[in-house]
Amino acid sequence: MTLLRKVSHTASSLFYTIPGSSDTKADHEKLSHYIVNINQKKSLPKILEQTALCLNEIIKDRLVAVVIKKGHQLDVWIDPMAGKSSISKIITKDFCLTDKDQPNYEYINSYPGAPQKRMIMNNLFSHEIYREKIFFKIYTLPGRKRYIQHTEISKLIFQSACIAISTRILINNLSNAAVIDPLTGCYNRREFENQLKRSISGAIRHKHDLSVFMFDLDHFKHVNDQYGHLAGDDVLKNIASIVQSGIRKGDILARYGGEEFIAILPETGKKKALELAERLRIQISKKVTQYNGHQIKVTASFGVTQMDPRFKDMKHIIQNADDMLYKAKVKGRNMIMPGLFKIVASESNPLLTKSKIS
Ligand code: GH3
Ligand code: MG
Ligand code: MG
Repeated sequence: MTLLRKVSHTASSLFYTIPGSSDTKADHEKLSHYIVNINQKKSLPKILEQTALCLNEIIKDRLVAVVIKKGHQLDVWIDPMAGKSSISKIITKDFCLTDKDQPNYEYINSYPGAPQKRMIMNNLFSHEIYREKIFFKIYTLPGRKRYIQHTEISKLIFQSACIAISTRILINNLSNAAVIDPLTGCYNRREFENQLKRSISGAIRHKHDLSVFMFDLDHFKHVNDQYGHLAGDDVLKNIASIVQSGIRKGDILARYGGEEFIAILPETGKKKALELAERLRIQISKKVTQYNGHQIKVTASFGVTQMDPRFKDMKHIIQNADDMLYKAKVKGRNMIMPGLFKIVASESNPLLTKSKIS
């Protein structure tokens, strides 16, 4: 509220002195309204959308891009009319980026007002704000002759947007902390169970398949004993990241226990689940973790199961996957165990050799 009062007060005196500003009271009311709106929005896209609208309506500036840098993570939100390639050139230069650390690009929701054709980036203005360990860089294009007062008003708008965004990020981080395993970035076991319940209801309602795989690293105790606990932690992070990149966006990966993980694969039958598990098993076995000059390799054993609609209890599905995982361990590790069938894996011809377990 204090910020709002300060903004309102400063803004009204600024409008008063802007050449060509005919109705300062209306402009001032609009700005106050937008600032309240920006602060009330609960998602980053909505905050940016309101910020773009506000800039456009109050001072005819176009919000071209917003860079949000938090630690090593760089997110860039751009106006769809700006064109990704021209913006990425500017951002690569401003942030000294290499090809490897290119940011994630998202589009700010389109909003009315000129320009309808591609923008020319020659007159780009930029403004920087650092707040709550987050660095913001905001790029705008003026839509009319610019006076110092325009810059002052845009700074007020940016400040409101950055306060709203950093507050949202803080809130998200707090709620993430309750569901995310801090070491691997996977969901934790409690959240896994919530998600599995939801996935089971969804699969039953829409008559879709649902599969689950569980895997456990083989002889992982040796890794800790031989290279130390921190080396073991690095291995766990690497394995989680391999699996996370190998599954689809809608799949859910969780750390179930120490070196044991579990994944939910919605709309996936057992055949596809087995193919995926086998692919991941091979990738894990090939991954080398470098630690203090050591090259560490591990393998994993998988249990794979598909939900049987007759036994749709969550515990039943987990128990099935766990039983299969146990069998894979007993049968020699570094393999996947699919219910009634054992897949004898071979690097060149995974999945083709299938034999029934008696
Ligand atoms: P198996 O093939 O039968 O699974 O053998 P294992 O050695 O992997 O199994 P065991 O249950 O004997 O040991 C699991 C090891 O995983 C022991 C434990 O210290 C280690 N571990 C569990 N959580 C973590 C972790 O967060 N970091 C590290 N570095 N090690 C962990
Ligand atoms: Mg193990
Ligand atoms: Mg274990």
